[in-house]
Amino acid sequence: MSEKKVLTNNFGAPVGNDLNTLTAGTKGPALMQDVHLLEKLAHFDRERIPERVVHAKGAGAHGYFEVTNDVSKYTKANFLSKVGKKTDLFVRFSTVGGEKGSADSERDPRGFAVKFYTEEGNYDMVGNNTPVFFIRDPLKFPDFIHTQKRNPATNLKDADMFWDFLSLTPESIHQVTILFSDRGTPKSFRHMNGYSSHTFKWYNEKGEYYWVQYHFKTEQGNQTFTGEEADRMKSIDPDCATRDLCEAIARGEYPAWRLEVQIMTPEQAKDYRFDPFDITKVWPHADFPPIDVGRMVLNRNPENYFAEVEQSAFSPGNFVPGIGPSPDKMLQGRLFSYHDTHRHRLGVNYHLLPVNSAKACPMHNYQRDGFMRTDNNGGSGPNYWPNSFGGPDPKPKAVEPSFELSGKADRHAYTLVDDDFVQPGDLYRKVMTDQDRTNLVNNIVGHLKRAQTRIQLRQTALFYKADPEYGGRVAEGLGLDVKKIEQLAGMSQEDRVKATEA
Ligand code: NDP
Repeated sequence: MSEKKVLTNNFGAPVGNDLNTLTAGTKGPALMQDVHLLEKLAHFDRERIPERVVHAKGAGAHGYFEVTNDVSKYTKANFLSKVGKKTDLFVRFSTVGGEKGSADSERDPRGFAVKFYTEEGNYDMVGNNTPVFFIRDPLKFPDFIHTQKRNPATNLKDADMFWDFLSLTPESIHQVTILFSDRGTPKSFRHMNGYSSHTFKWYNEKGEYYWVQYHFKTEQGNQTFTGEEADRMKSIDPDCATRDLCEAIARGEYPAWRLEVQIMTPEQAKDYRFDPFDITKVWPHADFPPIDVGRMVLNRNPENYFAEVEQSAFSPGNFVPGIGPSPDKMLQGRLFSYHDTHRHRLGVNYHLLPVNSAKACPMHNYQRDGFMRTDNNGGSGPNYWPNSFGGPDPKPKAVEPSFELSGKADRHAYTLVDDDFVQPGDLYRKVMTDQDRTNLVNNIVGHLKRAQTRIQLRQTALFYKADPEYGGRVAEGLGLDVKKIEQLAGMSQEDRVKATEA
């Protein structure tokens, strides 16, 4: 049997008594000199850190990635360099809008964030279980998230806020259709796919580049709750997905995903029929068939939730040589926002926390000091560059190849708005089964009926624009006049908004 550990204070001194406060006489009062009590209470008082503003409720696991197909002609990323190469990783799954104690089975996209501890630094793929997103401009992000949270007056979730914003933001219709299908309530984190949603850039040793989208396909199969099952599960086990992941790994049933990518050449991107960097759209498989890359396996539960899951911090701005950003506007906004929010939540040195720090390579630079600097802070080495005292030098080979940019600086609006309805229509008509369509309509009606009628009319017209049967069935479910919906659907968004003003 291992030797029993001695209880100490935070500085290692043994604690003699952890049951009785130091008091004057048996009845007290307590003495200020009971520094053990003071330290214990003071630390407890500071246990909570800011909750993530989105993706607050989550679960995580450790694992590895193994390359199964040679993609080195597309990218020089070292961790993808040869078949059989394995890289350790950490994954965090989450819901988006709910607070840290909210139910896992809420209708919501699921976060799907992977941190690859590569030999050339940490690479983060910070995606969702949906291949598209609600908006394509980061200026709208804070507004959008506000509508998914609580009404500022009542502190209640509010169907008017939710649908008002969506109905005034028609580009959301594709994601809304996926969210209100049963894919919006996955049975567990193991039973869902993960997507980069964004387009990224891969570049190879020769400096040639390609646009790429990632798809992590679940080997457990897609499994979903119906709306009713998901609602019931909230009271049976609000932590059902967290529990499922942790128990499956503990049983030795290691969940796995196949990573596939779609690749588009710069020439294809130039002439493609819609903007390939628009995150509200997918690249059709027929045009860009998915290519195998590798396999991700999760095989180890965290030992400590706060240390490893709560303190884990991902950013789509964490690239490694061979991978870079695309012009996707939402991605460009996220490149700033993720590091920024982690600095607020965890502090400026959050990259030194064990779960976030580079594991397969050293980290050397000239950043110094700041709160909670837990490494040796660069020791006695120089704190400026260039220097002639042996400090670390940049590696020119790690520079992303140059690329052309042109165009007028302006606040450009997206003009091909009718495009927005093509893919949700295809999803409804061509991909969904009859049962999927029925569940979709019921899920929408169950939620949208709580919004004001004028908002119902405006939103239902958008469903109608995606597909007349789709919009017609939602209208019938809500008791709206289908003729009126057809009329609203025929208007421009501007006129539709006017016709449904308060
Ligand atoms: P495909 O028929 O080649 O692919 C359809 C895709 O839809 C499959 O990847 C399937 O993957 C996924 N899917 C099935 N049911 C649903 C659902 N209820 N909600 C969301 N996804 C679902 O068609 P296309 O590539 O031409 O795309 C047609 C439509 O499929 C798109 O408009 C889009 O809405 C949807 N889709 C397309 C994806 C893409 O990358 N091309 C990815 C995901 C969805 P699986 O069952 O493994 O999830």
